[in-house]
Amino acid sequence: MANTPPDFDAVVVGAGFSGMYMLKTLRDKLGLKARVFEAGSNVGGTWYWNRYPGARCDSDSYIYCFTFDRQLLQEWEWSERYPEQPEILRYLEHVAARHDLKRDIQFGTKVTGASFDDTTQLWTVKTDKGDAVTARYVVAAVGTLSATNVPKFEGLESFRGKSYHTSQWPHEGVDFTGKRVGVIGTGATAVQAIPEIAQQAKQLTVFQRTANYCVPARNGKVDPEKVKARKADYDAIVQRIRSSFFGQEHYFIPKSALEATPEEREHEFDRMWDAGGFAFWLGNYQDMFFSAESNRLCADYIERKIRKSVKDPQVAEKLIPKGYAYGTKRQPLDTNYYETFNRDNVRLVDAEADGPIERITPTGVRAGGTDYAFDILVLATGFDAMTGPLKALNIAGRGGAKLEDAWKDGPRTYLGVAVAGFPNLFTITGPQSPSVLTNMPVSIEQHVDWISDCIAHLEANGKRTIEATTEAQDKWVAHVNEIVNMTLMPGANSWYMSANIPGKPKAFLPYLDPEGAGGYRKRCDEVAAKGYEGFALR
Ligand code: NAP
Repeated sequence: MANTPPDFDAVVVGAGFSGMYMLKTLRDKLGLKARVFEAGSNVGGTWYWNRYPGARCDSDSYIYCFTFDRQLLQEWEWSERYPEQPEILRYLEHVAARHDLKRDIQFGTKVTGASFDDTTQLWTVKTDKGDAVTARYVVAAVGTLSATNVPKFEGLESFRGKSYHTSQWPHEGVDFTGKRVGVIGTGATAVQAIPEIAQQAKQLTVFQRTANYCVPARNGKVDPEKVKARKADYDAIVQRIRSSFFGQEHYFIPKSALEATPEEREHEFDRMWDAGGFAFWLGNYQDMFFSAESNRLCADYIERKIRKSVKDPQVAEKLIPKGYAYGTKRQPLDTNYYETFNRDNVRLVDAEADGPIERITPTGVRAGGTDYAFDILVLATGFDAMTGPLKALNIAGRGGAKLEDAWKDGPRTYLGVAVAGFPNLFTITGPQSPSVLTNMPVSIEQHVDWISDCIAHLEANGKRTIEATTEAQDKWVAHVNEIVNMTLMPGANSWYMSANIPGKPKAFLPYLDPEGAGGYRKRCDEVAAKGYEGFALR
């Protein structure tokens, strides 16, 4: 039994950025036999599913791409600073074709279970298409924001109009012309979608539970000279983003906001605001995530901007966030978001000021005792982040232990890439790794490279399994929590803190390394250099 050859060396779940590069590495670098299962009918992952109006990347395109293919970095031309979803999908399709990836991807196939056999030391991966294949390694490349959160609104199924979740958007698009539309949610997705829908709809009503601090994206064409200079500098850019804090070219101002004079501060805030994008969030004063006082100065600045953009002071007041620190929820980037509330066809229903959503009715939404009628309802209500997509795989490790049970009080991982009791299972940008706090392709490539080096090490040393030790995992979990508790992050009801899903155990989902993603990369490399310290290799 123990010598039964597996169907595949590795099974990869998901064909987004991470699954594509994992396949490329396993197959073309290590020469292994790999199979990718992908639920969608094409590559793209998040960019395959999220087709809502206004969907675009929030990181600058010149760094929101693969860096393993240096030639492609030179050849590919992005049309804008933040390309729209169709363009990113085209890019990923191009990569798939260029590296002949599709021949090893089984599309339209959802993984329904993965279990480890202690005797054969193989995984069996089952799918909704009836596959049951064995493999030595399983790599979860399922993404961090791919398990859709549809809140259990009473009466949701009774709604007689059309309703759509932004992450399950129809491929043919939705025509809002002449329609009364309700949007539930004001996260990064809604902030992109609302200005676009408002331009088409007869009337748009936005249901806000928590106001967000939005900063301008400042999208547009990139100066061709800048593009040329970046292409000439790509080797250095790649080095910089890999060692940077957030996988971006943003660097903290190396002092406290409280040390700066009011004039200096205003000048810096203006500079970051004018630069657009994540500059204000990730390139702010270094104590912005730690000091409530410094943070307040940033928040005050944004509040002034909101009051300036929104004509009706009562609406502006509702749009001003309250009760949590700036930056502790994911920064939404906006293009005319606040200005959209100046339109005659747009109204804001705020849970606090106007009353929360009570139920969905056959004709619309009842909130704060008022009925709102809609033809179309858009749920921009986010995801069961990070742990959701992994739990959905029904993973059973050693002795049949379920991942779901192992994580009943929140995720427990080692380095965010492995879980004690689940040998030869790797999680790309998994919980308790920097992942969502960074520019995702940078963290994805880091994990894929680390995993493939690890597998190469096992192969070269005749080891059949690698498994995180409980001791190393316990230390890692404690470390992740210790660091985040020094910051202002736990004070927000964010999806980072698992607070968006009722009943989800409160836990910080990613990992904030004191030296950022660059520091985390060093840690992972040191673990490998020490013969995979904290892992048992057998
Ligand atoms: P989200 O940030 O979780 O926002 C969901 C929204 O729905 C929030 O406003 C939330 O309110 C509201 N909501 C959830 N359940 C509700 C309920 N039961 N009743 C009323 N309101 C409810 O989700 P998202 O906007 O889809 O964004 C998720 C993440 O995806 C982002 O943070 C970002 O990381 C990523 N994203 C990336 C891009 C990009 O880079 N291109 C674009 C969009 C999204 P509360 O705030 O009160 O929970």
